This record gives sequence, structure tokens and C-alpha cells, in this order.
Amino acid sequence: MDLTVGSILAATGFDPYEPKENEFGWGISNVVTLPQFRRIVNMCDDELVYKGKKIKDIAYIYCVGSRQVDGDNKYCSRYCCTATLYTSILTHKKYKGINSYHFNRGIRTYGKQEVIYDEASQLGDIFLQSYEYDPPAVEAANDKTKVKIKDILTNGTELEVDADLVVLVTGMEPRNDCSIGDVLKIPKGRDRFYNEIHMKLRPVETVIDGVTIAGACQGPKNILETMNSALSAAAKSYSIVNKGELELEPIIAKVDKETCVWCGKCAEACSYDAISSVKENGKEIAEINESVCKGCGMCLPVCESDSIDMDGFTNDEIESMINVLAMA
Ligand SMILES: Cc1cc2nc3c(=O)[nH]c(=O)nc-3n(C[C@H](O)[C@H](O)[C@H](O)COP(=O)(O)OP(=O)(O)OC[C@H]3O[C@@H](n4cnc5c(N)ncnc54)[C@H](O)[C@@H]3O)c2cc1C
Repeated sequence: MDLTVGSILAATGFDPYEPKENEFGWGISNVVTLPQFRRIVNMCDDELVYKGKKIKDIAYIYCVGSRQVDGDNKYCSRYCCTATLYTSILTHKKYKGINSYHFNRGIRTYGKQEVIYDEASQLGDIFLQSYEYDPPAVEAANDKTKVKIKDILTNGTELEVDADLVVLVTGMEPRNDCSIGDVLKIPKGRDRFYNEIHMKLRPVETVIDGVTIAGACQGPKNILETMNSALSAAAKSYSIVNKGELELEPIIAKVDKETCVWCGKCAEACSYDAISSVKENGKEIAEINESVCKGCGMCLPVCESDSIDMDGFTNDEIESMINVLAMA
């Protein structure tokens, strides 16, 4: 389908982190991830049953794939502490006799979500905390799974829990399918999520004019934060369309049609996909898309025939500036 549009809002979301083999017992039959556990809770009506066995003792292990010491995911995934405590409260309300143990690295139910932490504590949930460099160990033990921890809340006491089910609280990762971002050329940050122009001042705009981003595709977010960025990006996109005109960069590249022989090197160097070839008077030359060019100048040094200049910064103009400076 071909559509002509004035703005594009990318909201392609996230992928849940997939644990590596043996990571916190991943591979043991009664170790599941939080998204899997949510589906189990949805499917079980009166009794919580997994693989034919009634579940009573649940161990939640936090920060799986987030705040990694060795891995790439250094960030906090923001939603998981709240989502886990919410799920734990749900299990208490839905089933009788559930014991929940939270193996965490400091609970981050920030802001208004703190009441959920309070509610889970009042329901009898036990919180055990480890240092980042000494995480809990998970091992199979007959039909249960043992989780061991040096609990810093009790001065490093070694504690262990025999769990019927271990829930790995997996964080958010950038989506594996980046096709939309690649087509739109949305830049990514060091965390591999899409990058906004400025986190505080222009939080939903990208360096590509007319393209806005929202939600977890730009970094881990909970629902509230997702909604806020989505409404903001929709308003921003609408303001672009509503204006009816696109403001161009004042300084952009321009091609000397006489000397250009189209070698294609400028197009390869352009990160914004602003250069293509056109035929003019039977000759193939480079053409700049003025609404896409950012005036970064990357095409200039690769042009062997010296056929590209920046508006206001031609070789003659720069030489003249240097001359004036030398004379002063
Ligand atoms: C188990 C779990 C529990 C959670 N619980 C809570 C909670 O209790 N409270 C809370 O605040 N947050 C919670 N969250 C976080 C919440 O789910 C996210 O904040 C929210 O889903 C982010 O919304 P999003 O629209 O940015 O991304 P997504 O929900 O991932 O939506 C992105 C959408 O884009 C679509 N898409 C992707 N690529 C393309 C493409 N190329 N073409 C077309 N469509 C595409 C996807 O199919 C998807 O529908 C939870 C998350 C998980 C995993």
C-alpha cells in the first residue's frame, strides 16, 4: 500500500528479555518468565496449577536482563517491579495459601506505584535483597527448585527457599525486528532503543523531520509513561501536519550540476538518505532532497569532483572568510 503522509509516529514497542541457558535456572522445568506467569495466572481459575502440580511457594527473581553487570542491558526496565508486585497481589486475591518471596536488588515502585509495594507487604510477601555482584543462585531440588541468597537486609544471612515455581522477572529489550526504524533511519542510542532529539526538551521528536517516536521503542517505559509519550508524539505529529508546510534546514547541501558525474559516494556517506541520482539532459547527476538534508556535510569530503557545497559555506565563501581573518 502506498500512502502519502505528512508525519509518521513510530510506536513499535519492545521485546521481553529472553533469558540465556542456565541464567537464574532458565531451562529447569518449573522456571518461567513473568510474561509466561501472567498467562498461567490468566488460565488458572480456582487453583494455581503448573504442569499438573499445585503451586504454593513462588520465588520471583528480579532484574533478569536489566541492570546487568556483565551484559549489555545496563538500564532499569522500569515496569517490572510494579508489574511483579501487581501480579503477586493478583495471585493472593485469586488463590488461597500462596507464599511469595521476592529476590530483588532494591524495589523500584516509584511515585504513585509505591502503594502496590505496601499492599504486597501487608499481604505477607517476603522481600530478600542481594548485591548486584552476588545474585541469587537457582538449582533444581527434586520436584521443587531451591533459590539461595545472601540477604543484605538481614546483614548477609544465607537464606534459601524451596519454590514450587520460580518466576524470572524479565526486562525490556529493543525490538529484534527493526525494519520500521531502518526504513525511517531513526537513530539508536547506546542502549539500542530509538533515540529522541533531547530527552528533556524534545522527548518525542527524532532528527528525521516529521518522524516522531513514542512508548517503549524509545526505552523502557511503564503504561503511564507510554501513554504520556504517545499523547505528546500524536500532538507533535498533528502540529506538523496541521502547519501544512515543512520548515527546512537553512544550511543544506547543493550540487553543481555542471561538474557532478554521479559516482554515488555522496549517497553512501549520507546518513539521512537525502541523496539520489537523477538524469538531467542525458547526464546522471546527484540530487539532494531538500526536505530530508540536515546539512551535516558528510557528503562534501567524499565528492571527488568537488561538486557539492553547503549553502552559505562554498569553498569561495570560506576562502574569503579566511582572507578577511588573515588581513585583520
Ligand atoms: C508481563 C508484563 C507485564 C506488564 N505489566 C505492567 C503493569 O502492570 N503496569 C505498567 O505500567 N506496565 C506494565 N507493563 C509494561 C507495558 O506493557 C508497556 O509499558 C507497554 O506495553 C508499552 O507500550 P508500547 O505501545 O510502547 O509497546 P507494545 O505494547 O510493545 O506495542 C507495540 C505494538 O507495535 C506493534 N508493532 C511492532 N513492530 C511493528 C511493525 N513493524 N509494524 C506494525 N506493528 C508493529 C506490535 O505488534 C505491538 O502491538 C508490562 C509488561 C509486561 C511484558
